[in-house]
Amino acid sequence: MTREEGIIIIGAGPAGTAAAVQLGREGLDPLVLEKGEPGGLVRDANMVENYPGFPRGIPGKELAGLIGEHLERFQIRVAREKVIWLGFREGRFLVKTPDGTRTAGIVILAPGTVPAQDHGVEISGEARVRIRFGLNGITTGASTVIIGAGDAAFDYALNPSSGERVLILGRGKKPRALSLLVDRVKESSRIHYSMNTQVEGIRAGEDGLVLSLKKAAGSEIPGIFRTAVPDEIRAGFVLFATGRKPADGFIARELMEIRGVLEERGRLVPAGDVRGGMCRQVAISAGDGLRAAMMLTRSRRK
Ligand SMILES: Cc1cc2nc3c(=O)[nH]c(=O)nc-3n(C[C@H](O)[C@H](O)[C@H](O)COP(=O)(O)OP(=O)(O)OC[C@H]3O[C@@H](n4cnc5c(N)ncnc54)[C@H](O)[C@@H]3O)c2cc1C
Repeated sequence: MTREEGIIIIGAGPAGTAAAVQLGREGLDPLVLEKGEPGGLVRDANMVENYPGFPRGIPGKELAGLIGEHLERFQIRVAREKVIWLGFREGRFLVKTPDGTRTAGIVILAPGTVPAQDHGVEISGEARVRIRFGLNGITTGASTVIIGAGDAAFDYALNPSSGERVLILGRGKKPRALSLLVDRVKESSRIHYSMNTQVEGIRAGEDGLVLSLKKAAGSEIPGIFRTAVPDEIRAGFVLFATGRKPADGFIARELMEIRGVLEERGRLVPAGDVRGGMCRQVAISAGDGLRAAMMLTRSRRK
């Protein structure tokens, strides 16, 4: 059976939630489809310090929890379902999840991003169970290698959930992260970093992973990660922080062809990180979601 909805919001991160709450305040009844926990990617942030209203910062996990509470407080309908296909037929959107199909007049697209997996590292089949793209699934006490040199790499490292011993490996000459994050990493005895170091391959070892490296002379690798073989290190887990891309792979090709027209008409409204801009932050996504909702309801007030 196909269920009919007025507005469907895909994603309950900061963008989808800001849109849903504003629509709720307007007396509308959107349905939010969320594949995981409401709150979104910010759950992995160590400490959010640039969201106005939290002068002392707020741990990402706590902010994600509050985002979920915000949806509850406004009694927004949230279905824990993953959108696997989004099409457009006979003037309405078709939204498919493993639980069934719904139609909608308007879709707010706020699914954020997924890791870009073009990291160029050869990973053996058995090693893949210990590869991560976020903090989820890293066990307490683990030794973790984080590949990347930007804000996300350094922020993941600072999060206590990243492991008991952490090594950040970057290909470039120096870190690209905020100097504030780099300074905090330098102060931590738990975290080390080595730049000018390229990971070429990852395979399963006796009790974890073995990474083969190509490193420039002078790259410091702490003892805990070293194996007996030069240019090899070991780790319990490898976390890739090598970039993200819009999570809109579920959009049908037929819809992609008319996407521009639907966006112009305000029927399909992308909000937040999915827009693919360079500036991906909570405040921007929340503002984007709010704006999407206000644009949709503007005409109702006239
Ligand atoms: C390590 C790290 C640290 C960060 N630190 C900061 C910081 O300090 N300050 C800051 O402002 N920002 C920070 N960010 C960025 C911030 O988390 C994002 O910009 C923000 O969460 C984007 O919000 P969004 O709603 O656009 O997308 P997301 O937060 O990604 O939310 C998208 C939601 O959609 C859901 N979804 C995706 N696909 C589907 C589907 N097919 N079906 C149903 N649901 C789906 C997801 O499960 C998710 O809940 C950090 C990010 C990371 C990774």
